[in-house]
Amino acid sequence: MAKKKSKREYVWLECRECSSRNYRTEISVAEGTPKLELKKFCRNERKHTAHKIRRK
Ligand SMILES: [Zn+2]
Repeated sequence: MAKKKSKREYVWLECRECSSRNYRTEISVAEGTPKLELKKFCRNERKHTAHKIRRK
């Protein structure tokens, strides 16, 4: 039985509109680089915007 190796990485979620990094999250990088965009609440603008993953 093969051991499941979970490759995890801490990333930032950056607002697309004002570029402020509002969230820090953990993603799995086992299968290439995920290009995710999430709708998150931007504290800076006080509304929901698209946030993109920004690796450090
Ligand atoms: Zn914003």
